[in-house]
Amino acid sequence: MFVGFLEGFGFGVPVGGSGELTNALIASIKANGGEVLGEVDVTAIRTKGGRAVGAATKDGREFTAKDGIVAALQPARLGQDGGRRRAGNRQGRFGTQISEIGCITVHAALKAPLKFRAGANVKAVMIELLPNKYDTIRKSFDSLRYGEFSSYPLVGLGSLTMFDPSRAPAGAATMHAWDYVPYQRADGRDWDDTKHHYVKRMLSHMENFLDNLSDSVLAYHSDSPVDMERTSSSFRRGDLHGVAAVTYQAQSHRPTPDLGYNVVPGCERLYLVGPFQHPGGGVSAPAALLPSGIRRSEDRRVKDREALDVHAVLHGQLQAHGDRSARAQRQRSLDQGQGVRRHADDRAPVPQRSTQGTQAGELQARVIPADVPAALT
Ligand SMILES: Cc1cc2nc3c(=O)[nH]c(=O)nc-3n(C[C@H](O)[C@H](O)[C@H](O)COP(=O)(O)OP(=O)(O)OC[C@H]3O[C@@H](n4cnc5c(N)ncnc54)[C@H](O)[C@@H]3O)c2cc1C
Repeated sequence: MFVGFLEGFGFGVPVGGSGELTNALIASIKANGGEVLGEVDVTAIRTKGGRAVGAATKDGREFTAKDGIVAALQPARLGQDGGRRRAGNRQGRFGTQISEIGCITVHAALKAPLKFRAGANVKAVMIELLPNKYDTIRKSFDSLRYGEFSSYPLVGLGSLTMFDPSRAPAGAATMHAWDYVPYQRADGRDWDDTKHHYVKRMLSHMENFLDNLSDSVLAYHSDSPVDMERTSSSFRRGDLHGVAAVTYQAQSHRPTPDLGYNVVPGCERLYLVGPFQHPGGGVSAPAALLPSGIRRSEDRRVKDREALDVHAVLHGQLQAHGDRSARAQRQRSLDQGQGVRRHADDRAPVPQRSTQGTQAGELQARVIPADVPAALT
């Protein structure tokens, strides 16, 4: 999907550095009358009558929300039953599986542009220094699953001064490189003590592909998976995509079936964004998906009614899908509260699909929990 996307739309490189993308977003928010506050930790989302109405911050401030709250909340922070999920062993309602494969990055200032052994025609935003055997790649990724280092480092790099020379003094260059590593190391060693040993290994491996690397590096900054976790709660255990990109955490099941519609059951007007939501990590995701996420969650009210009709047909309750009188009757019984709790604001109830097995002839609608998860109160 990623490759096809790049083929179709190309790869944008903000002039002046990636921070310029953030600056442009901030300028846009301000131009529309908004305000951006940095270094403010939200410690609780305030709720009233089952609806998100504000946020409390670590420094003791309270903010009220008129229309709703949009939050990049790692699912583990929702309620007390969050936790880690492994395939086939889901723990807690909002439990997710984190990828075992983390990443280490190096951002370097170079005296001169890189010289690739493959020739001067190497010019791309992302360059992968890969082995020429597919099996080697597979084995390298497999080692990571067991907390070991890849026998063949899978290094990728970009030298964006190739496209935007304004990022470095004349004649100089920049480079960022990444490799895949385990967050939890099988050797039990601490990333904080050993990060620079690993960077040395990476740079030395890269010299197989580059002629002038060792002479060119003036200085570098590196982040281990543990550093990434510290940078943003989105990257828990160093997972770049918030939660593992596995099929059972994809699309409307991302990050979990309950949270896959960008809303939190039992807490209205709290909208979820972030790499853990569909379609997963990517710098374009939150801004682009926010309006569609809200729309999807609103559409869900309609879709769930349709789904109930289909479900009932499967169990022989209705004559045919689309039977208006039967549908109206079903809606009346829903409105009368069969298995569905009315929302505090008395708007239409939100019947939701059950995740439990169903009995023939039984109308299934998940009961919305009366209490908001503990972490949200
Ligand atoms: C090493 C690395 C390389 C990557 N490479 C690429 C790439 O090449 N291309 C690509 O498209 N994507 C890439 N990604 C993924 C991409 O960076 C993420 O998917 C993207 O940043 C997600 O954006 P976001 O705004 O949804 O979440 P974030 O960038 O994580 O933003 C969420 C923000 O919410 C803040 N926050 C969370 N909780 C609270 C709280 N309680 N109070 C206050 N603030 C809070 C966090 O501090 C953070 O600033 C990479 C990620 C990493 C780590």
